[in-house]
Amino acid sequence: MLPNLQAYRGSLLHFLADPAFSSDAHVYHADGLLIVADGKVQAAGNYASLHATLPAGTPVHDYRGKLLMPGFIDTHVHYPQTDMIASPADGLLPWLETYTFPTERQFEDPAHAGQVAEFFLDELLRCGTTTAMVYCTVHPQSVDAFFSASEQRGLRMVAGKVLMDRNCPEFLRDTAEGGARDTEALIQRWHKRGRALYAITPRFAPTSTDVQLHLAGELARAYPDTFIQTHVSENKAECAWVHELFPQARSYIDVYDSVGLLRPRSMYGHCIWLDETDRARMADSGAAAAICPTSNLFLGSGLFDFAAADRAGMALSLASDVGGGSSFSMLQTMNEAYKVARLKGSYLPALRMFYLATLGAARSMQLEGVIGNFATGAEADFIVLDPAATPLLARRNRAWQESGASLEELLFALALLGDDRAVAATYAAGQPVYQRAAH
Ligand SMILES: [Zn+2]
Repeated sequence: MLPNLQAYRGSLLHFLADPAFSSDAHVYHADGLLIVADGKVQAAGNYASLHATLPAGTPVHDYRGKLLMPGFIDTHVHYPQTDMIASPADGLLPWLETYTFPTERQFEDPAHAGQVAEFFLDELLRCGTTTAMVYCTVHPQSVDAFFSASEQRGLRMVAGKVLMDRNCPEFLRDTAEGGARDTEALIQRWHKRGRALYAITPRFAPTSTDVQLHLAGELARAYPDTFIQTHVSENKAECAWVHELFPQARSYIDVYDSVGLLRPRSMYGHCIWLDETDRARMADSGAAAAICPTSNLFLGSGLFDFAAADRAGMALSLASDVGGGSSFSMLQTMNEAYKVARLKGSYLPALRMFYLATLGAARSMQLEGVIGNFATGAEADFIVLDPAATPLLARRNRAWQESGASLEELLFALALLGDDRAVAATYAAGQPVYQRAAH
């Protein structure tokens, strides 16, 4: 049977390396063509040279004037917190008590979980996010609901059941053994089924006993290609609490390291209050940081130190952390990341921010070649960005529209002024999964 071939014409951008460490990191074609065969990238390049290779009759979707790029990857987000986004609280710990725990309680009900999962996925796709690392709740049925919904849409998603056996309300508490048993059953049910990938998910060190963390580490060794996700060093009160609970640990990240939870495919949310030893250990172990600027500013947690992370050679990615984060949009996440970097005396070029939200995330997850860029054979998850999505964007981006000037300026304006409105269309595995209504 002949492959299902589709082609997309527009300005085309993707990355081969980190712009912070390579002068040749991105590929850009002002008049480009993306060729997709059976849901995978067959070729990406100049329209003029590639068009001639298409068999007669191949449909060519015309996105001229718009920017085609890989779908965004959000490496840390809580789908059950969708309904409590933008809830006021004076810091992380009161916010958890007042809003998070009561909201997560509702996911005991599979119908509620399914309904929130559908809205959450709609919102991700509207924002151009095609892959996310997703926290469910302590209830296994919240994972089933999420993966059922993402499977139906053909999305590459990573998710896991929260492990939490202390320092939380009774109604959200599992046990060390019960949580491990549920996790193993979910790994067997969902990991690598279609595009689903499982993440072992202790919420954070304070809500797990030593025994639970040890069992999570054992699962991580038994299933080395699963993911691990948790929070570390988000806010000062939390760090002091961890120090009280684990007095033997050298540092917060050492609590995880000592049980085998620092390894490739482990994703650590926040990573603000780390020291040099912590950063070096993360880089050596292959663990990665999910940087959550809208959340860190919203909860007043602190400012991520990009320069220190780069000196240590840590793997970095950007994340929304909804509902602590205040936007699903990775463009808005870049906007805040840029300001966080400025406040720490660093500078984040737009090219680097777009890298961090695509290939940088894929590399952090050890999924390069699968998602994150237009390498031949990669899954065709891509988005169409509209530089003229709003009157202000159209005016700001006139120079690019008229003369193709400065890609960096175009990307910077999209990051600072853009949000879900800048996403004209989203494709997953070559299938259209979101199309912005005409305006
Ligand atoms: Zn979080």
